[in-house]
Amino acid sequence: MSKSRFVLDNSVKHLKGLFPQGSAKTITECGLKEGADDIAVIDLCYKRDAMLVTTDLGIQQKCRQYQATKNDCLSGLLILPDGAEQQKRVLKDIQTGRKAFHHSHYKAKVSWLQLRHANLVINTRVPGQPSVQELCDCKWED
Ligand SMILES: [Zn+2]
Repeated sequence: MSKSRFVLDNSVKHLKGLFPQGSAKTITECGLKEGADDIAVIDLCYKRDAMLVTTDLGIQQKCRQYQATKNDCLSGLLILPDGAEQQKRVLKDIQTGRKAFHHSHYKAKVSWLQLRHANLVINTRVPGQPSVQELCDCKWED
């Protein structure tokens, strides 16, 4: 089974073409039903080592609960705004560098690989630059 770096939940499935080719899959492409519950979607991301993309801010709490039951960490979370036009603008701004990811642990901009590896939550539903925060309470390795 090939692994994709991003799993798009139903709220953002129409954005697949805006991610680099082959890097994003919808939950139905991964074998879940459209109405799959949040925990099934989170579990899918865990098994695929993929970052979940959604519009649902509240899913953070469920991710934390999931991690507690697994005693393990997810691979980050990207939260987009509502509305296709807004979502496209945010993704374009990320591509062009108008929006970038910053976290106090890193001196430079944070890459997608670092975001996934460090299990960070990117919230783009805020004005200006995205908010980047930890999704788990692990100690930093370096
Ligand atoms: Zn962790």
